[in-house]
Amino acid sequence: MQVVRSRADLRAALAAAPRPIGLVPTMGWLHAGHVSLVERARAESATVVMSIFVNPKQFGEASDFERYPRNEGRDLERAEAAGVDIVFAPTVDEVYPPGFDTTVSVGAIAHPLEGAARPGHFDGVATVVAILFALVGAERAYFGLKDYQQIRVIRRMALDLALPTEVIPCETVREPDGLAMSSRNARLTPTGRAAAPVLRTALLAGAQAIRGGTADARSVRRTMADVLASEPLAESDYVSVADPVTLVELDTIRGEALLSLAVRIDGVRLIDNEAVTASRR
Ligand code: AMP
Repeated sequence: MQVVRSRADLRAALAAAPRPIGLVPTMGWLHAGHVSLVERARAESATVVMSIFVNPKQFGEASDFERYPRNEGRDLERAEAAGVDIVFAPTVDEVYPPGFDTTVSVGAIAHPLEGAARPGHFDGVATVVAILFALVGAERAYFGLKDYQQIRVIRRMALDLALPTEVIPCETVREPDGLAMSSRNARLTPTGRAAAPVLRTALLAGAQAIRGGTADARSVRRTMADVLASEPLAESDYVSVADPVTLVELDTIRGEALLSLAVRIDGVRLIDNEAVTASRR
């Protein structure tokens, strides 16, 4: 496995790399969710490139950026074991050279949910992913459905800017108790960690209500909010029942719905989602 840190070294490493190339963008602190993306990329690519870069532009609060967990030595071991060929682990200046002054800003799909809760977040994501797509020129890039809206934003951007990298969505990998794996889980205290599966419990309660015939989205939101309220450590940021295509909040659930949550536990902000199809009666 090659580790490169500059745009120039990445280009040089890629010049000799067999195609197709699969790209797995990450912010490090690798877990089984990241490994599942690499495995999918490995199966479909001759060369797997992973980026490890904690992107300051996608964090609203500087403190959140600084507290983000980092352990490059361990990440490189995990990347190599998972089958990565090239790791791109640049400095902030290498990604955003002096004078950098461009923002990629996606429209309507980036506005609700995470976009509303974290102003500027998706501008940061779209900007860094556009740079990574341009630098790597991969045939495919792999992203996790835990960040459902992120996938939708990146797909929109890639389509609109005619970037030739196909965005491949991958299933969310979970802990045995249902908690979606996330680098942020490392920041939970033991009591916070014990409380965190409440996100999954709430989503499953909402999904069950829909499958049981509840079509009133407000009632489904209330069901999920009630489950969250039963956990004293959980402070809900949003509880959403939205159209999975537009991400606009639904009044009545007729076909597909995307249930999603953002919840603070111990001051750590966690997100999760579940796509549901209403049973036809
Ligand atoms: P991050 O390092 O958190 O920016 O995540 C890098 C990529 O891994 C993103 O495409 C995430 O959606 C994906 N990812 C994060 N957690 C999981 C998970 N539990 N299962 C599958 N993919 C994930």
